[in-house]
Amino acid sequence: MATAERLAVPAGHPALLWESLPGGRARCGVCLRRCEIADGKRGWCGTRVNRKGRVFSLIYGQVASLAVSPIEKKPLFHFYPGSRWLSLGSLGCNFRCPGCQNWDIAHALGSGSRGAPGTVKLQETGFLAPRQVVTLACEQRCLGISWTYNEPTLWLEYVLEGARAAREVGLLTNLVTNGSITPEALDLVGPWLDSFRVDLKGFTPKLYRRLAHLTDFSGILSATSRAAHRWGAWVEVVTNVTPGFNDDEEQLSGIASWIHDELGPQTPWHVTRFVPHLRLAHLEATPVSTLERAREIGLAAGLSYVYLGNVSGHGAENTHCAACGELLIRRVGPAIVEFRLSGGRCPGCGAAVPGRFGAARAGNPG
Ligand code: SF4
Repeated sequence: MATAERLAVPAGHPALLWESLPGGRARCGVCLRRCEIADGKRGWCGTRVNRKGRVFSLIYGQVASLAVSPIEKKPLFHFYPGSRWLSLGSLGCNFRCPGCQNWDIAHALGSGSRGAPGTVKLQETGFLAPRQVVTLACEQRCLGISWTYNEPTLWLEYVLEGARAAREVGLLTNLVTNGSITPEALDLVGPWLDSFRVDLKGFTPKLYRRLAHLTDFSGILSATSRAAHRWGAWVEVVTNVTPGFNDDEEQLSGIASWIHDELGPQTPWHVTRFVPHLRLAHLEATPVSTLERAREIGLAAGLSYVYLGNVSGHGAENTHCAACGELLIRRVGPAIVEFRLSGGRCPGCGAAVPGRFGAARAGNPG
């Protein structure tokens, strides 16, 4: 954050996608909650406020986390492996996952199920204009900008301007998202979207209610399909397998089958290890055997690329050719230690590997 100016709590930036309601209320149309916000109140996420019937974003340009990291950390394994990405996030989330690893920023602004503001930490952010982000990405020799750490949908106005400016200079745009985005919000950013790394936490309304306080998760599925099919974004799916929550057959096979049927068998699925945290600190880390079973479920559903995550050194971090089994990319955690693809093709049988491939190198940035 050395280049960011520090700001006091901002007045707010005019928000997109809201409609006026009677009595000075307004409805936000950015994420699937579609909050109805009373005058003077914030939406569920705490990042959008109704001021005299008009909605403003409180986090436009307010950067809480900023780093250069490899695409493997998102994780994306079939999208320019080894590339460097300027990665940034702000405060707030539209979920309240009890085991959130980024809770200090994601839960920093109000909890909004009652619309009540919580701990406001905007003074701990720094402001970067969209073009400053782009300049920084160029200076850092990044392939693109990854909107990550907290839910990028929440600072849609900023992502949109940043993504447009990025495209002008040839940088790519990646969203790391929980998928709770309305079709109209996705369609705003869609023309500038290159990859969409989405969490599918489970496959039943009960699970989504329990983990994310979201009553209907079908919009996450349709947003993911829309990103892939309408906007042509490269999509990879992550499921953080959490003991007692989504480690059962119903959740895992539901996700795997949906990926296969809706996104296609060549879509990568990352089943990652839950690490005890926050309000789930009492749980055990996910046994590796559970992750291996999840992978078997994915393969049995017909998926060609199912990866284990947060188990550094496990063989299922590697990419093998789906046609002949040849080792294509060997990884240890986020680092590529062997890269054998040539022009996006298997060196053994010549089969094209799904994804987008360019220059990659071993020992990518940590
Ligand atoms: S972005 Fe925030 S205010 Fe808007 S619908 Fe989602 S939770 Fe509600």
